[in-house]
Amino acid sequence: MKCRICGAKAVIYLRQHNLALCEEHFISRFEREVQKTIKKFRMFDRDDVVAVGISGGKDSTTVALVLHKLGYKVRGIFIDLGIPGYSAFSRNKVQNFAQKFGIPLEIYNLKEREGESLPEIASRRKDRICSMCGTIKRYILNKWALEIGADALATGHNLDDETATLLSNTLRWDVGYLAKQHPVLLPTHPKFVKKVKPLAFMTEREIAVYAILNGVDFVNRSCPFSKGAKSLRYKHLLNEIEVQSPGTKLRFYREFLEFQSKYLKPVESEPQLKECKVCGMPTTIDVCSFCRIFRRGV
Ligand code: SF4
Ligand SMILES: [Zn+2]
Ligand SMILES: [Zn+2]
Repeated sequence: MKCRICGAKAVIYLRQHNLALCEEHFISRFEREVQKTIKKFRMFDRDDVVAVGISGGKDSTTVALVLHKLGYKVRGIFIDLGIPGYSAFSRNKVQNFAQKFGIPLEIYNLKEREGESLPEIASRRKDRICSMCGTIKRYILNKWALEIGADALATGHNLDDETATLLSNTLRWDVGYLAKQHPVLLPTHPKFVKKVKPLAFMTEREIAVYAILNGVDFVNRSCPFSKGAKSLRYKHLLNEIEVQSPGTKLRFYREFLEFQSKYLKPVESEPQLKECKVCGMPTTIDVCSFCRIFRRGV
């Protein structure tokens, strides 16, 4: 197969666009598409500092890399959760990645900074480990982004993630979540940093190919605590539909956003936020969930 633009050997065929591209034209198209998403949704400007939590997987490394290549001021952070056989391995990859591409990186070691690793916390609490992990990561990322004066916190959510979430919310008719699902999440408190998803219209496959072609050695093993998430089932289903009707995922998401902007307004009023009496970060309760996890103020 040949590149539709220059006739050189194609490295990818994008069925949803009926388009075969060579390495050079695929990379430039990918970067143009991400730039279009940033502009269309007014995610951030040229002078803004963009914070990225880099776990080492293809999505977080790609979002950091593409923004860096597009000339944005990227700052990365790796959160070392202390998971045996996983965290140290990922940290190494992320450090090599940041060094190779010249992306400033900070390491946040949970055990050193907060006194306990994730498995240690999990051994004394009944909550689901992934839900605690999510709370911890969200808190640390937001607080760090705030401290470094970042204008936006970019995540690596891709089209497959977004459509799987959309399908799940639609099957439950969860109008509250449907009204909120968007490539940009504006802060509802001065201590929250704007969250943005520059890869929201790129598929997992495009992201993996982009990372490989750019020489990114991303983490290709799963966390030992991840198992059979429901979102994976939705992703498989959507992939099956995509094989029959290429372009379905892109249409599903794009047309949803059009519909949302016209007809879906947030149904519930946002819960009243106050400041955590221990750490001062926004929360709906007296002591925020992060401080509770670390037994502070309770
Ligand atoms: S799978 Fe691992 S890294 Fe992901 S949320 Fe669960 S514990 Fe955290
Ligand atoms: Zn070409
Ligand atoms: Zn707190």
